[in-house]
This record gives sequence, structure tokens and C-alpha cells, in this order.
Amino acid sequence: MVRKMGVYAVLAFCLYGLFFYWYLFQFADAAVPFEFEGSKADPITFLNGRELSLSEEYSKVRNLLFFLSTPFEWLFYFLILLFGFSKAFKRWADSSSKYKLLQTAIYLIWLSFFAFLATFPLNYISYSLSKTYHISTQPFASWMKDELIDFWLNYGTWLIIVPVLYWLMKKSQKRWWLYGWLLSIPFTLFMMFLQPVVIDPLYNDFYPLKNKELETKILALADKADIPAQHVFEVNMADKTNSLNAYVAGIGSNARIVLWDTTLNRLNDNQILFIMAHEMCHYVEKHVYFGIAGYLLLSLLGLYLTYRLMNWAVRRYGNELKITDVRDIRSLPLFFLILSMLLFAASPLTNLASRYQETRADKYAIEMTKNSEAAITSFQELTRSGLSQVNPPLLVKLFRYTHPSMLDRISMLEEYEIKHRNE
Ligand SMILES: [Zn+2]
Repeated sequence: MVRKMGVYAVLAFCLYGLFFYWYLFQFADAAVPFEFEGSKADPITFLNGRELSLSEEYSKVRNLLFFLSTPFEWLFYFLILLFGFSKAFKRWADSSSKYKLLQTAIYLIWLSFFAFLATFPLNYISYSLSKTYHISTQPFASWMKDELIDFWLNYGTWLIIVPVLYWLMKKSQKRWWLYGWLLSIPFTLFMMFLQPVVIDPLYNDFYPLKNKELETKILALADKADIPAQHVFEVNMADKTNSLNAYVAGIGSNARIVLWDTTLNRLNDNQILFIMAHEMCHYVEKHVYFGIAGYLLLSLLGLYLTYRLMNWAVRRYGNELKITDVRDIRSLPLFFLILSMLLFAASPLTNLASRYQETRADKYAIEMTKNSEAAITSFQELTRSGLSQVNPPLLVKLFRYTHPSMLDRISMLEEYEIKHRNE
């Protein structure tokens, strides 16, 4: 039975992979719709032939990697349970220490280590692909360092969560999901508060804008939107990537707008001001807070479903999965498996909400700067620097796109341009 279930799971993963290979490489048509041909959103008008074919190739492989990596994680956790690895980790942990907390720490390090090994090949392929296409400029050692920071950061975070989670399960078999959720609220807020000042600097250097002339212009714009000057930062990314970006992070006194130095290097002042105005919309409309609120609401539902599904799986397949009791830490891979499935299933919804905020930010930015030429060319440059797809296939858009497609973004700006041409 166990072997049969393992074979079926691997087969299902292969079929799923083949489906996405067919969907992305054969079925999907990346050409812009007829009515946009020759418009400023049509990549033919701003990319050269080589950039066009590279962006098509690169996006297809990247999309495939994206769709493979999450279900691969599910397969990993499933097989870890099925073939008794989780049981073995627990045994090793129990025999190395008599302290409960230390046992949990040891169990978790084994699980994290195996997960790291299993997902490493796909991560490495993704990194070397982006290097081949000259998106990433990061040397292997620096990339590996980031991977290790990821590993320890994740390990540290779960080391705080997991003991509390299993303690709650023992205290209240029926309500642990609710108590866990209540505790996750202050924890999430605390992490969001710390992120820009403690976590992000582990990866990159943050500092005030270097170009003082540009800084004056940006701060004048920020002032117009009531954003304090000390909340605008530059981050050194040129050693890692050629692509462009800017974002808003943090909450409370740590809320900030961050511009990648690549963006500052590659775009002219008016283009940068448009990007900046877009970020300012996120800041003044408090999109981060709406994001957290939405995430917390979804996680209440998610934890409840996890509770139901875990009980069901252990009742029905406890023998095969080698979990006798949900409250035993051996069930942790099942917890991760269900959580990851729910997150993936919810991603079309969370992406939709994010795209809504991004559309608002684009509209705000063009109203504020009123320079559609600068706005359109900045998006064209964004497309070129990241070799991104202007018009992604539907499933890619649903599951991957936190921003509207460039087709939508540029054509919105073009409409604005046409509307205001005679004013
Ligand atoms: Zn945005």
C-alpha cells in the first residue's frame, strides 16, 4: 500500500508537470491581442528581435519552474511521511536529548535539512537560468550565502512557532487552530515591524539616496504626499541583479519606501519619479496594512481547514503516513503539506487583491506626475530589464502575477495619454 501510494504520488506529479509543459510551451499564445498590435504595449515596438525571443524563452522556463516547485514541495513532505523519515527524525531527536524543546529543535533541523537538500536542485536551476539570461549578476558564493540566510531564518522562525503550536494541540485538541491564530496576530505584526530593519539588512545594504539632486526631487514629491523624508531608502542590488524594482515595506515607524539602485541607475529622473509616485500610493493608502488584515483573515480560515484536514488525514491514512496522533510532532510534514496546498489554492485570490492595489497605484502615479511618456517608457524598460512577458498566459497570470500584466499597465497609461492629449 505504502509503495503504491508513493508511486501514484510521483506519477501524479509527473503528469502535472507534463500538463504545464504542454500548457506553457505548446498551448499558450503569448502574442498581444489583435487590438493592441503596434501599440506601446506591444513588445515589438520597444524590444529588439533578440530581446523578444529571449524574453519568450526565459519566461516559459521560469513559469514552468514556478509551477513545478510548489507541488514538488508537497511531494517531498508526502514521501517524507510515507517512507517513515518523519518517524526516524523523531527517533533521532528523542535519543539525542531528554529535553522536550531540544528534541523539537533537533527534529526540526533534520526536517529542514532534508527539505533544503530536496529543493536545492530546483533553486539552483532557477538561479543559473537567471544568470544565463543575464538577469542575475550574483556570483555563486553570494547566492549561496543568501540561501543559507534563508535557511537559518526559516529555521529560527519555525523554532518559535512549532513548539507553541504542538503545545496548543496538547492543551486543546479542538481549539488549537483558533488559539494559534490569535497568537499569530501579534507575531505577524512584530515580524512586519522588524522586517525592514532587522531581516532585510541581512541580505542587502540600505542607505539614504546617494544622488542628492534626485533625492531633492523625490523628497519634494514625497512631501506632496505627506511622507516623511527619512522613510525613503536606496538598496544596493546592482551586485545581484539587472532587473529593476521598488517597494514599500514595514509598519509603524519602520514603514519605508525602498528603491533598488538598479532602478536609479537605469531610468531617467522623470521615470524614477513615476515609479516613486506609484510606491507613494502604496504608502499613503496603507496597502501593507490591508495586506496584513487580508492575510490574517485568510489564515484564520486556513488554520481551521488545516485542523480539519489533519484530523481527517490521520484518521484515514494514519497507518500509511506513520502518524498515530495529530499532536505528535511526527505530523509536522503533514501540517506543512496542507499549509502549502492551501496557500497555493488561495494565491489566485491574494494575487487578485494585489493586482487591484497595483492598478490603483499606477493610476495615482500618473495623476500625480502627469507624464505619460516617462511612465510608459519606464514600464517598457522594466519589461526589458527583467525579460518579462507582456501578455502572460491566463494560468500564469492567475497564480503568479501580483502586478497587472505589462499589457494592462501600459495600455492603461496609453488611454490616459489619449484622454489628456488635448488638455
Ligand atoms: Zn506597486
